[in-house]
Amino acid sequence: MITTARPTDYDVLVVGSGIAGLSAALTAAPSARVAVVTKGALDDGCSRYAQGGIAAAVGDDDSTELHFEDTIAAGRGLCHADAVRVLVEEGPARIRQLIEWGVAFDTQDGELLLAREAAHSRARILHARGDGTGLEVETALIRRLRAGGARVVEHADVSGILTTSDGVCCGVSITTSGTPAQSTSLTASAVVLASGGASRLWRNSTNPKSATGDGVALGYNAGADVSGMEFSQFHPTALAMEGAPRFLISEAVRGEGALIVNRDGHRFVFDVDPRGELAGRDVVARAIWDELGRSGERCVYLDCSPLGARAAMRFPTIAATCAKYGLDITHDPIPVAPAAHYMVGGVCTDLDGATSLPGLFACGEVAHSGVHGANRLASNSLLESLVFSKRAAHAALGWAAESPPADAASISRSPSPRASTVDPREGWDTLHDALWTGAGVVRDAAGLEAAGRACASVAASTAGATALPMMQLHAAASTASLVCTAALAREESRGCHLRSDLPQASDQWHGDLVMHKDRGARFDRHL
Ligand SMILES: Cc1cc2nc3c(=O)[nH]c(=O)nc-3n(C[C@H](O)[C@H](O)[C@H](O)COP(=O)(O)OP(=O)(O)OC[C@H]3O[C@@H](n4cnc5c(N)ncnc54)[C@H](O)[C@@H]3O)c2cc1C
Repeated sequence: MITTARPTDYDVLVVGSGIAGLSAALTAAPSARVAVVTKGALDDGCSRYAQGGIAAAVGDDDSTELHFEDTIAAGRGLCHADAVRVLVEEGPARIRQLIEWGVAFDTQDGELLLAREAAHSRARILHARGDGTGLEVETALIRRLRAGGARVVEHADVSGILTTSDGVCCGVSITTSGTPAQSTSLTASAVVLASGGASRLWRNSTNPKSATGDGVALGYNAGADVSGMEFSQFHPTALAMEGAPRFLISEAVRGEGALIVNRDGHRFVFDVDPRGELAGRDVVARAIWDELGRSGERCVYLDCSPLGARAAMRFPTIAATCAKYGLDITHDPIPVAPAAHYMVGGVCTDLDGATSLPGLFACGEVAHSGVHGANRLASNSLLESLVFSKRAAHAALGWAAESPPADAASISRSPSPRASTVDPREGWDTLHDALWTGAGVVRDAAGLEAAGRACASVAASTAGATALPMMQLHAAASTASLVCTAALAREESRGCHLRSDLPQASDQWHGDLVMHKDRGARFDRHL
């Protein structure tokens, strides 16, 4: 137990500086004492890498109702309709706010340019710098944050959530490198968790190093409900070349006319879905996975030749990255394969970002708001981050205004420090391989059990670690274990959770699997 200073250091403390964290901080900062704590530099995280864009019903031929229907269809029966309603209805206002905050979306003749992406029934994807949407948004928000209002703490790893003796969140502990690691506490009336996703836990991933699922482990260990962890979305088309990173080739490329073909030039996705390349992510990823299994090849190909010279102009980042590896996208087919991309599950929140732990709020990819159901519709995640970060910031401000200052706190991580003998590199290799082989695009019970055992063993051998690298590995292993547990428990195939041993969706599983540290798992059936 430690005694916290009165008053708290901050009214609202935001963990993470991607689009969700920055937007929450910018919303809260004008009227409160706000800090943003982030484990790397401000612009680390997934947001800056987002290419395709942000979905919002702003086109003349579009409506929030159509955006609602497309999102619900992608979610395979598990979307929370009230959350989707909020997403699509508040989306256009958040786009206007981004423009006010200085984001320059691509336009033509003064009109916003809208692109079409897989499983969207209308062209509704706003983009910037061609395929540099995330970078443009992140840069504009950082510029605004730097201009004043919130304290920024970079290179500070949040390693625990502080709770009062009555189980109310009242700050975070931060750990810096060294053995033993140095931990300090920052107290706050409300904490907004915006620490992003977990897809870097898989061997093949489109995500940067920061995306190791820390926030899920933090929330879970502090006593918040976590759900949807069985739904890990795999992007169908990541660059698959020896020596190259699994760089994402955006859906928007297919939206503009690129074709997916096998070595013989056959457009095999049409064999399983009449929408072909424009089918949902789960369908296309599964089709490619099966094609790779059938052919024994390491990749299939994305043929951008139908776009001609436009390919390089519309997708300058993709063209430049492929050129680094000797590919001219205007006529060379791009070798692609699926890679882990997006974590649908996370810390459960209500429509205002409140978690089940009083004083703790969550938004962005770390949160499970229910908008994505069993499968995220492309380009809805930046929108979710924007819409729900604003709501979470307002709710956190309200909570901070009403809650009395906390006076005693405990740290929600293992209280008994002990040295770990695990080699961190081996530990990470174990997690990466276990998830890729056991909890990949298509899973089964035997693979999930083996992966779960491997992840749990890394978690056990790093529990109570006092050096930062081991604490990071422990958080990652804890989140990876939750993925395996949830994926094993959900005995059906639905959305991006595909079980070869249970290939059908089942009415019995029409709901959310919610996990709690002390209370175990429960099933919240959708009515
Ligand atoms: C290559 C790529 C392309 C994508 N393209 C699109 C797209 O076109 N459209 C779309 O809608 N979505 C896209 N996505 C998904 C989208 O980018 C993310 O879902 C979104 O950016 C998540 O934002 P976030 O703020 O929640 O998380 P992030 O942007 O990942 O930020 C998380 C922040 O938390 C920090 N953090 C993590 N752990 C800790 C800790 N323990 N302590 C302190 N700080 C911590 C990180 O350093 C980072 O600053 C893409 C993702 C990738 C990887």
